[in-house]
Amino acid sequence: MQVTAGRHYIIENPRGSDLFTLTVMKTLLRTGVVKVATFPQCALGLQSPEGLPLLKWTTLWASSEVLLRRFRGLQCNCEVHGKMEGGYCGQRRSKLAQVWPYEMCKLIVAGLIELLAKLSSFPVGEDGAPEKRRPGRPRLHEVGAEFKCPACRISRVSTDPGHTRSLDAEDRCRYPGVEPIEWRCPACAAGKGPMEDGHSMVKGECRALETRTRAFGKRRDAQSRIRDPAIPASGDASRR
Ligand SMILES: [Zn+2]
Ligand SMILES: [Zn+2]
Ligand SMILES: [Zn+2]
Repeated sequence: MQVTAGRHYIIENPRGSDLFTLTVMKTLLRTGVVKVATFPQCALGLQSPEGLPLLKWTTLWASSEVLLRRFRGLQCNCEVHGKMEGGYCGQRRSKLAQVWPYEMCKLIVAGLIELLAKLSSFPVGEDGAPEKRRPGRPRLHEVGAEFKCPACRISRVSTDPGHTRSLDAEDRCRYPGVEPIEWRCPACAAGKGPMEDGHSMVKGECRALETRTRAFGKRRDAQSRIRDPAIPASGDASRR
């Protein structure tokens, strides 16, 4: 899916459409990284074949606020609307109203251009001035997001089973997508540091084994050079 690959998307549908109640879409919304905007298309010039404004409430879902901000605050100021039901010259009116008005296309294209400018190697702001950017995927968490997950609060490693893996505000976790690892070593299971006592130092059971080996540079054989999945590599996407 676009989201897990860190790509961008924009989805248009009538407000309250069945599409938005699908489980997969609810899951997408729950990740908290989806932006939503709802607006009346008459504000963007949607018209009936007779030239009357058409009130069609529309919802856009997108991966970035950049794609949606132009659709915020749009209002219907119409005195009359054309009708959406029935036919016109042998075509259903609702079908004719599915064509996006020109203004709406323009706002989507403007959003895309702004987004591409931000993602390019030489990003520029709206004023054309160069802009700094962080490389890589869109963030999983907003800037300044608070992590109330108990394991996150005490800085447990990402694979600690104590993490909630939640994206809800009450117990949000920094590592929602990380597979937990149950360490069989009692000291590891109790969350002790690698230098504390009580570690079994058994390969595959004890995290301290690999951590200590790494710290002192005493790797005994090639097989022991397995990266500890519990220690995030630098640039771990889940930390952004
Ligand atoms: Zn209107
Ligand atoms: Zn956590
Ligand atoms: Zn251990």
